[in-house]
Amino acid sequence: MRSIEAAALRRTVAAIFEAAGCSAVESARVAESLVETNLTGHDSHGVIRVPRYIAALKRGDVHAGRGITIVTETPVLAVVDGNNGFGQTIAQQATDLGIGKATTSGMAIVALRHTAHVGRIGEWAERAAAAGLISIHFVNVPGSILVAPFNGVERRMSTNPIAIGIPVTGELPIVLDFATSTVAEGKALVAYKGGAALPPDALVEPDGRTTGDPAALYGTPHPGKPADARDGPGAIRAFGQHKGSGLSFMCELLAGAFSGGGTAASAHPSITNAMLSIYLAPSAFGDARAFTDEVRAFAAFFTSSRPAVPGTEVLMPGGPEQRSRERRRREGIPLEDAVWEGILQAAESCGLSREHMEHLLSEGSLSR
Ligand code: NAD
Repeated sequence: MRSIEAAALRRTVAAIFEAAGCSAVESARVAESLVETNLTGHDSHGVIRVPRYIAALKRGDVHAGRGITIVTETPVLAVVDGNNGFGQTIAQQATDLGIGKATTSGMAIVALRHTAHVGRIGEWAERAAAAGLISIHFVNVPGSILVAPFNGVERRMSTNPIAIGIPVTGELPIVLDFATSTVAEGKALVAYKGGAALPPDALVEPDGRTTGDPAALYGTPHPGKPADARDGPGAIRAFGQHKGSGLSFMCELLAGAFSGGGTAASAHPSITNAMLSIYLAPSAFGDARAFTDEVRAFAAFFTSSRPAVPGTEVLMPGGPEQRSRERRRREGIPLEDAVWEGILQAAESCGLSREHMEHLLSEGSLSR
């Protein structure tokens, strides 16, 4: 385990994508997004993804240099195709399209299909909030079937995240962002690679028993065997019993079926994301300043609840990510040895030597 400065990790990751054939701009964008995700504390969706992204690029499941194409468009809505480009590029373009429309018209809806992994959905809610917009995002993951419905043991859905962002003038936005499964698949991957353990009831075995052992998802670990969530006999459970399961069901329909990206029930040659995003400009609906005042007042009321455990805090959505950002900007991003080894192997597959990678990273190493 080591702690790395965000800037050094960005440089290191960007170098791999450049070596893999991406432009300097796209490489920097992907690196920025992954490292920012590590800063928020969601290591499951940060640089641990580099080997998967590089493997997908080499397989031709994701394509460098691609942008969105418009399928349908009016002043307030658009259906866009991501052409299996990098999610960090595609989702940014789709989000900017929604921001532009909502800024002009007061609201907008953008349905995005066929994009590679768009990462942390909160990133897109934060981007909209930076433009003064409320946003709501429903996402599904066609081609990745991981989650059992409530009372089921067989996989029927993906981890289908939802994000909602509320801008607060002069302050950081309030962002709720989570997978509708007990844990995001990446968190099971982190546990499988020796990182933070899963809750004991995060997964379900084929016989209906709950477990926190990531082998239920990835199968028994063997040296040299890459983690593949298709190898395990079990499933991730939907969060919140029937409520989370129902919310995930709706993500399949709103993001997958509605956008044309498809649901977990249809066959997909590769894993993609689809995302339905709704953008609202507070000023188009009423007094934006009064809205912000009400948001501030409610947030203060909410967090003033006495904590159940003395000495802890009641946090708003986005609170833990903000704390993590402050801490990791100061102390560096912790990088597990197994995660770094995976990144090294991905770099080697692109012709970069371990020595070069160690050199790039060591420039930002805070501790070993
Ligand atoms: P999580 O379970 O850590 O929940 C995060 C949400 O809960 C955040 O809004 C956070 O602010 C809030 N939260 C956490 N602890 C809190 C506390 N003590 N008090 C108040 N609020 C609290 O997140 P997750 O489900 O593991 O998802 C992790 C990331 O994975 C998300 O960014 C999600 O978008 C991403 N994801 C992406 C995909 C994809 O296909 N692109 C799929 C699944 C998940």
